[in-house]
Amino acid sequence: MASKAIMVVDDSSTIRKILQREFSKADFEVVPAKNGMEALAMLEWADPYPDLITIDIDMPRMNGFELCSKIREKADSENSRKRLLSQTPIVFVSANDDLKNREKAYELEVLDFIGKPFVPGKMLQTVNNILNVQEQFSGMTALIVEDSPFVSRIVRNILKRHGLKVHEASDGKKALEIIKEKKFDIDIIITDYIMPGLSGEELCRTLRSIEVLENVPIFFISSINDKETTLNFFKVGANDYLPKPFFEEEFRARIVTHLRNRKYTKELEKLNSRLEFQADHDSLTGLYNRGYLQRELSTIFTQSQYGQGNLCCMLIDLDYFKKVNDDFGHAFGDLVLQKFAKIMTNNSRGSDIIARFGGEEFAILMLDTDLKGCLLLAEQIRTAAEGYIYNDGNTELQVTISSGLSSLNDHEIKNVDDLFSKADKALYAAKNNGRNRVEVYSA
Ligand code: GH3
Ligand code: MG
Ligand code: MG
Ligand code: MG
Repeated sequence: MASKAIMVVDDSSTIRKILQREFSKADFEVVPAKNGMEALAMLEWADPYPDLITIDIDMPRMNGFELCSKIREKADSENSRKRLLSQTPIVFVSANDDLKNREKAYELEVLDFIGKPFVPGKMLQTVNNILNVQEQFSGMTALIVEDSPFVSRIVRNILKRHGLKVHEASDGKKALEIIKEKKFDIDIIITDYIMPGLSGEELCRTLRSIEVLENVPIFFISSINDKETTLNFFKVGANDYLPKPFFEEEFRARIVTHLRNRKYTKELEKLNSRLEFQADHDSLTGLYNRGYLQRELSTIFTQSQYGQGNLCCMLIDLDYFKKVNDDFGHAFGDLVLQKFAKIMTNNSRGSDIIARFGGEEFAILMLDTDLKGCLLLAEQIRTAAEGYIYNDGNTELQVTISSGLSSLNDHEIKNVDDLFSKADKALYAAKNNGRNRVEVYSA
């Protein structure tokens, strides 16, 4: 990955040198500028485009605040470079680290404020935190629900600088519309309490009743600050609350915590569904595995036994498959198994349960099917397999199959094992009677 660039704007050559040395150590490319004018000129044209800018507050002619507002005012520009610039993270470096300066800086969307003199490593740590946070959360989506455009803008800018994609709604009803439109792909919701239309409280209650939004952090920001109301936020399902006006640093710190949790939860959910899939499926063919079949079967069997429907079992075994492996290699054998899995899927109905039972043995369970229908399907699969030419670019080969059928209503089946063992006896008969054929169980 190309190294990131930091622009350092400071009238003191000593500070420029110190910062240059510190940032270079971490492989940042440093672009120094000795005053605001030079910085602006360089930002118009310069390459590399800075990923972050540090600005000294006390500089002659154009101070840090003036430079910063010049950079920020390009937000509405048609020029995409200028628009991007208006979002660039800025860190102030100053000897005058007082609360008033800090507040003024945060209004200009300055991300951090480092007091001079600073201890070695402090600047690097700050910069790394900011850039990492953006990388960490890029691709995540936030929704702001707020009727005050002023507050909405402040929150939007904070979230954008954390690398988030931001949607905005002026009340709960519009929020729900956006959520549906975005297919519920929202990672954090920041909502006001009192709004025209659907209030924050009603919105929160609605969101919590939607299953996919169960774990999405909901963060209330409200000018109401009495205990009863704020407790109620949590009762309706909120994860956090801050009274307005809030201290930006605190808001950011809380947001980061929620986003980290959200990211972690999403990763776990993804991993979980992958594990669930793996637990039930065969990795080579993508069919259900034997474990799944056994777990599901007792339920299916009982349902069929006490319901009206029949249940048929078809066991399939590839003929002379050992020879396929021996003659053409294991990889070609795998290809045959994968393609044959497709043949079965293409020739069966959605309600049939197809599983890889073992090496080159497969089982198909057919619900609500009589023996005649089952036999028809078995023949269809047998013919399709017989006619198929397996081809890996080098070898062309036909492979036949044998199958055995058993039926709950036709063969006095006592239990699941019996269903399988009778199908297996039929399969054995199919092999004995010459292979490439279907046999139905008979006593
Ligand atoms: P029959 O017609 O009597 O069924 O003969 P067969 O050779 O098919 O039967 P056998 O049970 O002797 O051989 C099965 C072969 O299937 C042996 C084994 O190497 C192969 N096999 C099992 N699992 C896999 C697999 O995942 N990939 C490949 N390529 N081969 C497999
Ligand atoms: Mg200075
Ligand atoms: Mg075989
Ligand atoms: Mg076999």
